[in-house]
Amino acid sequence: MLNIVLFGPPGAGKGTQADFLVDNFQLIHLSTGDILRGEIAAETELGLKAKTLMDKGELVPDEVVIGMIESKLKANKDAKGFIFDGFPRTVAQAKALDELLKGFGHPVSGMLALEVEKQELINRLLERGKVSGRSDDQDASIIENRINVYNEKTAPLIDFYKKQDKFYSIEGMGTIEEIARRIEAVVAKLMS
Ligand code: AMP
Repeated sequence: MLNIVLFGPPGAGKGTQADFLVDNFQLIHLSTGDILRGEIAAETELGLKAKTLMDKGELVPDEVVIGMIESKLKANKDAKGFIFDGFPRTVAQAKALDELLKGFGHPVSGMLALEVEKQELINRLLERGKVSGRSDDQDASIIENRINVYNEKTAPLIDFYKKQDKFYSIEGMGTIEEIARRIEAVVAKLMS
């Protein structure tokens, strides 16, 4: 079983690269952002609560996203593996993921961290905002806040996975294909 944490700041290209991994390695893509946007679209109570935080670029509470991941893992017991995209985003979430995966007997295989310069992140997010309609991608101050939240709460996960010897840095600048090839090389190593 291959369990990949696809990591990086907002706009690093996690979703794009996750699609490629799904096609090539038949893994299940779990994006907490996508699941939350699904809840918002369905106008559930959870979605309505999450929306106020997401619109500001703040994180939703750990227990909410951990619960969502737990139910997805339980629903996919026969999976070949998972790509976690946008999760974990805090040390508490990473610890919870380790616990949940114990149930599968297959821990996180590796954390692949896409490294992209800040100005490039902002440019990519503003471009995405024009086509996706995502309100959190259309406002420069919300984007700035998301990058700050990443630096403060999410970047510490790099050390968390380094300590487990599972951290892999991926150069995230370049074409989608170039980045995909760099990821593929690491995934091939993790599978061997
Ligand atoms: P994303 O699509 O991954 O950029 O996530 C969009 C927004 O959803 C984030 O800015 C957060 O408000 C929320 N979100 C997504 N994943 C998480 C997570 N693992 N923990 C907390 N909040 C999250």
